[in-house]
Amino acid sequence: MKKLLFSILTILLCLTSFMLVSCDGEEDTTTTVDKEDNTTTTIIDKTCSHEKTVIISGKEPNTTSTGLTEGKKCALCEKILQPQNIIPAISVMDNGIEYRINHDKSSYSIVGMSVHLNKSLIIPSEYKGLPITVIEESAFENIDTLETVTIPSSVKYINRFAFRGCANISTIKISEGVTYIGRDAFNGCSSLEEIEIPNSVVDMDSGVFMNCTSLKKAVLSNSMKRISNYTFSQCVNLEIIEIPDSVTVIGISAFLNCDSLANVPLGKNVTVIEAGAFKLCDGINEIIFPDKITYIGDNAFFRCGYLETVTIGENTTYLGGMSFGECNKLKIFTIKNTNNWKNIGPVTDIDIDVTDPYLNAERISSGKNSYSWGAWGRETKRGSNITP
Ligand SMILES: [Zn+2]
Repeated sequence: MKKLLFSILTILLCLTSFMLVSCDGEEDTTTTVDKEDNTTTTIIDKTCSHEKTVIISGKEPNTTSTGLTEGKKCALCEKILQPQNIIPAISVMDNGIEYRINHDKSSYSIVGMSVHLNKSLIIPSEYKGLPITVIEESAFENIDTLETVTIPSSVKYINRFAFRGCANISTIKISEGVTYIGRDAFNGCSSLEEIEIPNSVVDMDSGVFMNCTSLKKAVLSNSMKRISNYTFSQCVNLEIIEIPDSVTVIGISAFLNCDSLANVPLGKNVTVIEAGAFKLCDGINEIIFPDKITYIGDNAFFRCGYLETVTIGENTTYLGGMSFGECNKLKIFTIKNTNNWKNIGPVTDIDIDVTDPYLNAERISSGKNSYSWGAWGRETKRGSNITP
């Protein structure tokens, strides 16, 4: 009896499953969730075994329209085996600000601005729930209606030319969080009077504040290793600046034509002053170089028209060509130590009093490692200049 019942049950079961398979329209679906991108894939299993699949090609998004990921369907029954996902448009214009999704798909860049009437720009820290991490190259270049700019802490990179030529910006607030400021980012912001670079900034590329002719005061990040080339070039009103202890190099023409500097701003750890760094700085009267300075580049103080007194520190081994050239008021030039000199260029071209107990004419004119002629000026004057 039990055996019979079991047989009937088995037959019934087989019949049911046979009916399920043969009945068109009945589907047994399984849904899988991809852990990586959270997409849902529905695989439909019916009479067709979907042995042959074809790829449904995707579409790259462009600046205004969305794209699609690649999909997959069955070549026989056309059932979608892998649905396509929407890729956000490369950039979106929203309330006058243009946003672009970054490659990581989890953050946005700001690419530009369409409404040029806003005087005050407060960059949002997020868009559609994702952080804004980049201000793109030239994003706000030459927008002369802008007067104040606030950059939030979500932003890590301010790329090159981002605010170049914004002639009416008077205030820029850069939040702690920014790590990089690209080349010429604020070049020509000629109404800017003060700037504070937060300590999160590790690297500032060349010319960032070049031609900021109203800039009076700058506070720099204490994470920077170098004042890059042309950083404050032509900032004729720059009066107050301190070089942080982290800085070891003053780059090429970094303070070119900064006429309002009364002193040479040198931090505790600067060792290298590169070519033209303080060329044409008419406000400087006296320089006593710290002993740490090892290198003073070509033209470094060329035509500093009011410079009268210079003392070169103990460890300077390189004095570049015309490093004090055409400093026409220069009277006293003291060198603490000439023993380790690797190069002496024609430092200056004027008649000055040399007060150096170690000075040795032979070493200067034909020292083993020196490649330049005369240390103290035009060859004709050299003899008289260096006679003790
Ligand atoms: Zn199929």
